[in-house]
Amino acid sequence: MKRWDVVIIGGGVIGLSLAWELRSRGASVLVVEKGALGREASWAAGGMLAWFDPHLPEAARGLARLSRRLYGDFVQGVEAASACDVDLRRLGAILLDEVLPGDFRDICRTITPFELEQLEPRLKPSSNGQSPSIQFWPEWSVDPRGLMTALIAACKTQGVDVVTGGSVSRIVVADGRAVGVATASAEFRGGAVVNCAGAWAAKIASGLKISPSPTRPVKGHMLSLKPSHEVLQHVVRAPDVYLIPRSDGRIVVGATVEEAGFATEVHPETIERLRAAAVRIVPELASASVQESWAGLRPGSPDGLPILGETDLPGYFVASGHFRDGILLAPGTASVMASVVQGDSVDEGLAALSPRRFA
Ligand SMILES: Cc1cc2nc3c(=O)[nH]c(=O)nc-3n(C[C@H](O)[C@H](O)[C@H](O)COP(=O)(O)OP(=O)(O)OC[C@H]3O[C@@H](n4cnc5c(N)ncnc54)[C@H](O)[C@@H]3O)c2cc1C
Repeated sequence: MKRWDVVIIGGGVIGLSLAWELRSRGASVLVVEKGALGREASWAAGGMLAWFDPHLPEAARGLARLSRRLYGDFVQGVEAASACDVDLRRLGAILLDEVLPGDFRDICRTITPFELEQLEPRLKPSSNGQSPSIQFWPEWSVDPRGLMTALIAACKTQGVDVVTGGSVSRIVVADGRAVGVATASAEFRGGAVVNCAGAWAAKIASGLKISPSPTRPVKGHMLSLKPSHEVLQHVVRAPDVYLIPRSDGRIVVGATVEEAGFATEVHPETIERLRAAAVRIVPELASASVQESWAGLRPGSPDGLPILGETDLPGYFVASGHFRDGILLAPGTASVMASVVQGDSVDEGLAALSPRRFA
Protein backbone atom coordinates (compact mmCIF):
# COMPACT_ATOMS: atom_id res chain seq x y z
CA MET A 1 0.00 0.00 0.00
CA LYS A 2 1.32 3.47 -0.94
CA ARG A 3 2.23 5.60 2.07
CA TRP A 4 2.53 9.41 2.16
CA ASP A 5 4.48 11.51 4.67
CA VAL A 6 1.31 13.47 5.43
CA VAL A 7 -2.39 12.80 4.71
CA ILE A 8 -4.57 15.93 4.85
CA ILE A 9 -8.33 15.70 5.33
CA GLY A 10 -10.12 18.54 3.49
CA GLY A 11 -9.16 20.55 0.42
CA GLY A 12 -10.17 24.07 1.48
CA VAL A 13 -7.78 27.01 1.78
CA ILE A 14 -6.26 25.58 4.98
CA GLY A 15 -5.74 22.02 3.69
CA LEU A 16 -4.37 23.14 0.32
CA SER A 17 -2.10 25.87 1.74
CA LEU A 18 -0.65 23.29 4.13
CA ALA A 19 -0.26 20.75 1.30
CA TRP A 20 1.54 23.37 -0.80
CA GLU A 21 3.86 24.31 2.08
CA LEU A 22 4.67 20.71 3.05
CA ARG A 23 5.34 19.76 -0.56
CA SER A 24 7.66 22.79 -0.94
CA ARG A 25 9.57 21.41 2.06
CA GLY A 26 9.94 18.06 0.29
CA ALA A 27 7.20 15.99 1.98
CA SER A 28 4.93 13.65 0.01
CA VAL A 29 1.32 14.74 0.58
CA LEU A 30 -2.15 13.34 -0.10
CA VAL A 31 -5.30 15.49 0.25
CA VAL A 32 -8.57 13.57 0.73
CA GLU A 33 -11.62 15.74 0.00
CA LYS A 34 -15.25 14.66 0.43
CA GLY A 35 -16.60 16.81 -2.43
CA ALA A 36 -14.74 18.99 -4.91
CA LEU A 37 -11.59 20.88 -3.89
CA GLY A 38 -12.07 24.39 -2.54
CA ARG A 39 -15.85 24.62 -2.86
CA GLU A 40 -16.96 25.15 0.75
CA ALA A 41 -16.18 28.10 3.08
CA SER A 42 -13.12 29.02 1.07
CA TRP A 43 -15.23 29.52 -2.09
CA ALA A 44 -17.89 31.50 -0.19
CA ALA A 45 -15.50 33.96 1.48
CA GLY A 46 -15.17 37.67 0.80
CA GLY A 47 -11.37 37.67 0.82
CA MET A 48 -10.61 40.63 3.10
CA LEU A 49 -7.18 40.33 4.70
CA ALA A 50 -8.13 42.24 7.85
CA TRP A 51 -4.85 41.98 9.78
CA PHE A 52 -5.67 44.93 12.04
CA ASP A 53 -9.24 43.92 12.85
CA PRO A 54 -9.72 44.51 16.60
CA HIS A 55 -12.34 41.73 16.56
CA LEU A 56 -9.58 39.21 15.85
CA PRO A 57 -8.91 37.56 19.25
CA GLU A 58 -5.61 38.50 20.88
CA ALA A 59 -4.32 34.90 20.80
CA ALA A 60 -4.65 34.79 16.99
CA ARG A 61 -2.68 38.01 16.42
CA GLY A 62 0.72 36.31 16.19
CA LEU A 63 -0.68 34.14 13.41
CA ALA A 64 -2.18 37.21 11.69
CA ARG A 65 1.18 39.03 11.86
CA LEU A 66 2.94 35.99 10.41
CA SER A 67 0.37 35.72 7.61
CA ARG A 68 0.81 39.40 6.84
CA ARG A 69 4.56 38.90 6.49
CA LEU A 70 4.07 35.84 4.26
CA TYR A 71 1.12 36.88 2.08
CA GLY A 72 2.95 38.64 -0.75
CA ASP A 73 5.38 35.75 -1.30
CA PHE A 74 2.60 33.18 -0.83
CA VAL A 75 0.50 34.75 -3.59
CA GLN A 76 3.50 35.23 -5.85
CA GLY A 77 4.53 31.56 -5.45
CA VAL A 78 1.04 30.19 -6.02
CA GLU A 79 0.40 32.46 -9.02
CA ALA A 80 3.74 31.56 -10.60
CA ALA A 81 3.14 27.81 -10.18
CA SER A 82 -0.43 27.95 -11.49
CA ALA A 83 -0.46 30.80 -14.03
CA CYS A 84 -3.70 31.93 -12.31
CA ASP A 85 -4.46 35.42 -10.98
CA VAL A 86 -5.77 35.68 -7.41
CA ASP A 87 -6.63 39.41 -7.71
CA LEU A 88 -4.50 40.51 -4.76
CA ARG A 89 -5.38 44.17 -4.12
CA ARG A 90 -3.23 46.23 -1.75
CA LEU A 91 -5.26 49.45 -1.85
CA GLY A 92 -6.47 49.43 1.76
CA ALA A 93 -9.82 49.55 3.53
CA ILE A 94 -12.07 52.37 4.62
CA LEU A 95 -13.73 51.74 7.95
CA LEU A 96 -16.89 53.53 9.02
CA ASP A 97 -17.67 53.77 12.74
CA GLU A 98 -14.94 51.36 13.79
CA VAL A 99 -12.77 51.76 16.92
CA LEU A 100 -9.20 52.64 15.96
CA PRO A 101 -7.15 49.64 17.12
CA GLY A 102 -4.80 50.84 19.89
CA ASP A 103 -1.79 48.76 18.79
CA PHE A 104 -1.98 50.08 15.24
CA ARG A 105 -2.43 53.83 15.72
CA ASP A 106 0.68 54.56 13.70
CA ILE A 107 -0.53 52.36 10.81
CA CYS A 108 -4.30 52.94 10.68
CA ARG A 109 -5.41 56.57 10.65
CA THR A 110 -8.54 58.69 10.87
CA ILE A 111 -9.31 60.54 7.62
CA THR A 112 -11.33 63.68 6.97
CA PRO A 113 -14.48 63.86 4.80
CA PHE A 114 -12.34 65.79 2.28
CA GLU A 115 -9.78 62.94 2.08
CA LEU A 116 -12.63 60.45 1.75
CA GLU A 117 -14.04 62.44 -1.17
CA GLN A 118 -10.64 62.10 -2.90
CA LEU A 119 -10.37 58.37 -2.16
CA GLU A 120 -13.94 57.23 -2.79
CA PRO A 121 -16.20 59.96 -4.24
CA ARG A 122 -19.19 57.61 -4.51
CA LEU A 123 -19.09 56.50 -0.87
CA LYS A 124 -21.68 58.49 1.11
CA PRO A 125 -21.30 57.41 4.74
CA SER A 126 -23.46 60.28 6.01
CA SER A 127 -26.46 59.46 3.82
CA ASN A 128 -28.16 58.15 6.98
CA GLY A 129 -27.97 61.70 8.42
CA GLN A 130 -25.01 61.11 10.76
CA SER A 131 -21.29 61.73 10.33
CA PRO A 132 -19.44 58.57 11.28
CA SER A 133 -15.79 58.34 12.17
CA ILE A 134 -13.85 57.40 9.03
CA GLN A 135 -10.55 55.55 9.04
CA PHE A 136 -8.10 54.22 6.53
CA TRP A 137 -6.49 50.85 7.29
CA PRO A 138 -3.75 49.50 4.98
CA GLU A 139 -5.37 46.09 4.48
CA TRP A 140 -5.37 43.93 1.38
CA SER A 141 -7.90 41.65 -0.30
CA VAL A 142 -7.87 38.65 -2.61
CA ASP A 143 -10.53 36.90 -4.67
CA PRO A 144 -10.92 33.62 -2.71
CA ARG A 145 -12.18 31.80 -5.81
CA GLY A 146 -9.12 32.92 -7.72
CA LEU A 147 -6.97 31.87 -4.78
CA MET A 148 -8.57 28.42 -4.61
CA THR A 149 -8.29 27.91 -8.39
CA ALA A 150 -4.62 28.89 -8.21
CA LEU A 151 -3.89 26.75 -5.14
CA ILE A 152 -5.51 23.66 -6.70
CA ALA A 153 -3.44 24.06 -9.87
CA ALA A 154 -0.25 24.89 -7.92
CA CYS A 155 -0.62 21.84 -5.64
CA LYS A 156 -1.16 19.54 -8.62
CA THR A 157 1.81 21.04 -10.50
CA GLN A 158 3.96 20.55 -7.43
CA GLY A 159 3.02 16.87 -7.09
CA VAL A 160 0.48 16.90 -4.28
CA ASP A 161 -1.76 13.82 -4.66
CA VAL A 162 -5.50 14.35 -4.39
CA VAL A 163 -8.54 12.12 -3.90
CA THR A 164 -11.91 13.86 -4.35
CA GLY A 165 -15.40 12.54 -3.61
CA GLY A 166 -14.04 10.55 -0.63
CA SER A 167 -15.43 11.44 2.79
CA VAL A 168 -13.07 10.44 5.60
CA SER A 169 -15.09 8.45 8.11
CA ARG A 170 -12.31 7.18 10.40
CA ILE A 171 -8.73 7.77 11.51
CA VAL A 172 -6.73 4.54 11.20
CA VAL A 173 -4.81 3.86 14.42
CA ALA A 174 -2.03 1.30 15.01
CA ASP A 175 0.11 0.91 18.13
CA GLY A 176 -1.39 4.06 19.68
CA ARG A 177 -0.60 6.29 16.67
CA ALA A 178 -2.56 7.69 13.75
CA VAL A 179 -1.30 5.92 10.63
CA GLY A 180 -3.89 6.95 8.04
CA VAL A 181 -7.51 7.66 7.18
CA ALA A 182 -10.39 5.57 5.87
CA THR A 183 -13.30 6.44 3.59
CA ALA A 184 -16.22 4.10 2.87
CA SER A 185 -14.23 2.43 0.07
CA ALA A 186 -10.50 2.91 0.73
CA GLU A 187 -7.72 3.41 3.24
CA PHE A 188 -4.82 5.84 2.84
CA ARG A 189 -1.68 5.54 4.95
CA GLY A 190 0.53 8.39 6.15
CA GLY A 191 3.19 9.22 8.72
CA ALA A 192 0.93 12.02 9.98
CA VAL A 193 -2.74 12.92 9.52
CA VAL A 194 -3.99 16.54 9.60
CA ASN A 195 -7.68 17.33 9.96
CA CYS A 196 -8.38 20.45 7.85
CA ALA A 197 -12.08 19.69 7.44
CA GLY A 198 -13.31 23.21 8.28
CA ALA A 199 -16.78 23.33 9.84
CA TRP A 200 -16.91 19.51 9.66
CA ALA A 201 -13.69 18.96 11.63
CA ALA A 202 -15.55 17.96 14.82
CA LYS A 203 -17.17 15.03 13.03
CA ILE A 204 -13.85 13.40 12.25
CA ALA A 205 -12.36 11.17 14.94
CA SER A 206 -15.44 11.70 17.13
CA GLY A 207 -15.30 7.95 17.84
CA LEU A 208 -11.78 8.15 19.32
CA LYS A 209 -11.14 8.73 23.02
CA ILE A 210 -9.24 12.00 22.55
CA SER A 211 -9.98 15.68 23.23
CA PRO A 212 -12.62 16.89 20.77
CA SER A 213 -12.06 19.50 18.06
CA PRO A 214 -15.37 21.28 18.64
CA THR A 215 -15.89 23.20 15.41
CA ARG A 216 -19.37 24.31 14.39
CA PRO A 217 -20.78 25.81 11.18
CA VAL A 218 -21.49 29.57 11.22
CA LYS A 219 -23.46 30.52 8.14
CA GLY A 220 -22.77 33.64 6.09
CA HIS A 221 -24.91 35.02 3.25
CA MET A 222 -23.23 37.11 0.53
CA LEU A 223 -23.95 38.54 -2.91
CA SER A 224 -22.09 40.16 -5.76
CA LEU A 225 -23.20 43.21 -7.70
CA LYS A 226 -22.16 44.16 -11.21
CA PRO A 227 -22.40 47.93 -11.64
CA SER A 228 -22.22 49.32 -15.18
CA HIS A 229 -19.14 51.39 -14.24
CA GLU A 230 -16.48 51.35 -11.53
CA VAL A 231 -17.90 52.61 -8.22
CA LEU A 232 -15.30 51.65 -5.58
CA GLN A 233 -11.56 51.05 -5.30
CA HIS A 234 -11.16 50.25 -1.61
CA VAL A 235 -12.71 47.70 0.68
CA VAL A 236 -15.37 49.45 2.77
CA ARG A 237 -16.51 48.14 6.14
CA ALA A 238 -19.54 49.62 7.94
CA PRO A 239 -21.22 48.21 11.05
CA ASP A 240 -23.95 46.37 9.10
CA VAL A 241 -22.29 45.58 5.76
CA TYR A 242 -18.96 45.36 3.94
CA LEU A 243 -18.13 45.88 0.29
CA ILE A 244 -15.15 44.32 -1.47
CA PRO A 245 -14.32 45.56 -4.99
CA ARG A 246 -12.80 43.11 -7.46
CA SER A 247 -10.59 44.21 -10.32
CA ASP A 248 -13.23 43.18 -12.90
CA GLY A 249 -15.63 45.78 -11.47
CA ARG A 250 -17.78 43.46 -9.35
CA ILE A 251 -18.59 44.43 -5.77
CA VAL A 252 -18.92 41.58 -3.27
CA VAL A 253 -21.29 42.46 -0.42
CA GLY A 254 -21.37 40.64 2.92
CA ALA A 255 -22.16 39.14 5.24
CA THR A 256 -24.49 37.66 7.81
CA VAL A 257 -23.28 35.65 10.81
CA GLU A 258 -25.89 32.99 11.57
CA GLU A 259 -26.10 29.90 13.77
CA ALA A 260 -28.12 27.72 11.38
CA GLY A 261 -26.45 24.32 11.46
CA PHE A 262 -25.15 22.87 8.20
CA ALA A 263 -27.95 24.37 6.05
CA THR A 264 -26.71 26.54 3.18
CA GLU A 265 -29.96 27.64 1.48
CA VAL A 266 -29.95 31.24 0.35
CA HIS A 267 -32.80 33.39 1.71
CA PRO A 268 -33.80 36.14 -0.76
CA GLU A 269 -34.94 38.51 2.02
CA THR A 270 -31.50 38.29 3.68
CA ILE A 271 -29.81 39.04 0.36
CA GLU A 272 -32.11 42.02 -0.15
CA ARG A 273 -31.25 43.32 3.35
CA LEU A 274 -27.53 43.19 2.55
CA ARG A 275 -28.06 44.82 -0.85
CA ALA A 276 -30.11 47.64 0.72
CA ALA A 277 -27.38 48.23 3.34
CA ALA A 278 -24.80 48.51 0.53
CA VAL A 279 -26.99 50.99 -1.38
CA ARG A 280 -27.38 53.15 1.77
CA ILE A 281 -23.64 53.92 1.78
CA VAL A 282 -23.01 53.76 -2.00
CA PRO A 283 -26.28 55.06 -3.52
CA GLU A 284 -25.05 54.45 -7.10
CA LEU A 285 -25.25 50.71 -6.43
CA ALA A 286 -29.06 50.98 -6.52
CA SER A 287 -29.01 50.33 -10.26
CA ALA A 288 -26.43 47.51 -10.14
CA SER A 289 -27.72 44.05 -10.94
CA VAL A 290 -27.28 41.20 -8.47
CA GLN A 291 -24.92 38.87 -10.28
CA GLU A 292 -24.90 36.05 -7.76
CA SER A 293 -25.95 35.26 -4.19
CA TRP A 294 -24.69 32.44 -1.97
CA ALA A 295 -24.14 31.18 1.56
CA GLY A 296 -21.21 29.35 3.13
CA LEU A 297 -20.22 27.77 6.44
CA ARG A 298 -17.41 29.33 8.48
CA PRO A 299 -15.62 26.93 10.83
CA GLY A 300 -16.42 28.41 14.26
CA SER A 301 -14.90 27.26 17.58
CA PRO A 302 -16.18 27.72 21.17
CA ASP A 303 -13.67 30.51 21.99
CA GLY A 304 -13.48 32.02 18.48
CA LEU A 305 -9.87 30.90 18.03
CA PRO A 306 -8.36 28.54 15.47
CA ILE A 307 -7.61 24.99 16.62
CA LEU A 308 -4.04 24.20 15.62
CA GLY A 309 -1.63 21.48 16.67
CA GLU A 310 -1.21 17.85 17.63
CA THR A 311 -4.03 16.09 19.47
CA ASP A 312 -3.72 13.54 22.31
CA LEU A 313 -3.34 10.87 19.62
CA PRO A 314 0.28 10.93 18.39
CA GLY A 315 0.47 11.59 14.65
CA TYR A 316 -3.01 13.13 14.47
CA PHE A 317 -3.15 16.93 14.07
CA VAL A 318 -5.93 19.50 13.62
CA ALA A 319 -5.90 22.80 11.68
CA SER A 320 -9.41 24.23 11.75
CA GLY A 321 -11.69 26.77 13.48
CA HIS A 322 -10.48 29.77 11.48
CA PHE A 323 -13.98 31.26 11.63
CA ARG A 324 -14.06 34.63 9.78
CA ASP A 325 -10.34 34.78 8.96
CA GLY A 326 -9.28 31.58 7.22
CA ILE A 327 -8.27 33.31 3.98
CA LEU A 328 -6.21 35.80 5.97
CA LEU A 329 -4.63 33.18 8.26
CA ALA A 330 -3.90 30.52 5.60
CA PRO A 331 -0.18 31.21 4.91
CA GLY A 332 0.64 31.58 8.62
CA THR A 333 -1.29 28.43 9.46
CA ALA A 334 0.44 26.50 6.67
CA SER A 335 3.87 27.63 7.87
CA VAL A 336 3.42 26.81 11.56
CA MET A 337 1.50 23.58 10.94
CA ALA A 338 4.13 22.32 8.47
CA SER A 339 6.75 22.90 11.18
CA VAL A 340 4.63 21.23 13.88
CA VAL A 341 3.90 18.20 11.69
CA GLN A 342 7.60 17.88 10.82
CA GLY A 343 8.55 18.05 14.51
CA ASP A 344 10.20 21.50 14.43
CA SER A 345 9.68 23.95 17.28
CA VAL A 346 7.47 26.97 16.61
CA ASP A 347 6.29 29.93 18.65
CA GLU A 348 3.54 32.25 17.26
CA GLY A 349 1.52 31.64 20.48
CA LEU A 350 0.53 28.14 19.41
CA ALA A 351 -0.04 26.81 22.94
CA ALA A 352 -3.21 28.92 23.25
CA LEU A 353 -4.53 27.41 20.00
CA SER A 354 -3.82 23.74 20.84
CA PRO A 355 -6.65 21.22 20.40
CA ARG A 356 -5.75 19.97 23.88
CA ARG A 357 -7.31 23.10 25.42
CA PHE A 358 -10.70 21.36 25.05
CA ALA A 359 -9.64 18.31 27.09
C1 LIG B 1 -19.65 34.38 3.90
C2 LIG B 1 -18.21 34.22 4.34
C3 LIG B 1 -17.34 35.30 4.25
C4 LIG B 1 -16.01 35.15 4.65
N1 LIG B 1 -15.14 36.20 4.47
C5 LIG B 1 -13.84 36.06 4.81
C6 LIG B 1 -12.91 37.11 4.59
O1 LIG B 1 -13.27 38.15 4.06
N2 LIG B 1 -11.60 36.92 4.96
C7 LIG B 1 -11.17 35.76 5.55
O2 LIG B 1 -9.99 35.67 5.89
N3 LIG B 1 -12.04 34.74 5.77
C8 LIG B 1 -13.35 34.86 5.42
N4 LIG B 1 -14.23 33.84 5.65
C9 LIG B 1 -13.79 32.68 6.41
C10 LIG B 1 -13.05 31.69 5.55
O3 LIG B 1 -13.79 31.43 4.39
C11 LIG B 1 -12.82 30.39 6.34
O4 LIG B 1 -12.25 30.66 7.60
C12 LIG B 1 -11.89 29.45 5.55
O5 LIG B 1 -12.34 29.30 4.23
C13 LIG B 1 -11.83 28.10 6.23
O6 LIG B 1 -11.07 27.27 5.39
P1 LIG B 1 -11.05 25.69 5.63
O7 LIG B 1 -10.13 25.13 4.64
O8 LIG B 1 -10.81 25.43 7.08
O9 LIG B 1 -12.57 25.26 5.38
P2 LIG B 1 -13.34 24.87 4.02
O10 LIG B 1 -13.02 25.81 2.94
O11 LIG B 1 -14.77 24.69 4.40
O12 LIG B 1 -12.68 23.50 3.64
C14 LIG B 1 -12.89 22.33 4.38
C15 LIG B 1 -12.94 21.19 3.39
O13 LIG B 1 -13.00 19.96 4.11
C16 LIG B 1 -13.85 19.09 3.39
N5 LIG B 1 -14.32 18.03 4.29
C17 LIG B 1 -15.18 18.14 5.33
N6 LIG B 1 -15.39 16.95 5.91
C18 LIG B 1 -14.63 16.05 5.22
C19 LIG B 1 -14.44 14.64 5.34
N7 LIG B 1 -15.06 13.91 6.29
N8 LIG B 1 -13.61 14.02 4.48
C20 LIG B 1 -12.96 14.74 3.50
N9 LIG B 1 -13.12 16.09 3.34
C21 LIG B 1 -13.95 16.74 4.20
C22 LIG B 1 -14.97 20.00 2.89
O14 LIG B 1 -15.68 19.43 1.81
C23 LIG B 1 -14.18 21.25 2.51
O15 LIG B 1 -13.79 21.24 1.14
C24 LIG B 1 -15.57 33.93 5.21
C25 LIG B 1 -16.44 32.84 5.28
C26 LIG B 1 -17.75 32.98 4.84
C27 LIG B 1 -18.66 31.79 4.88
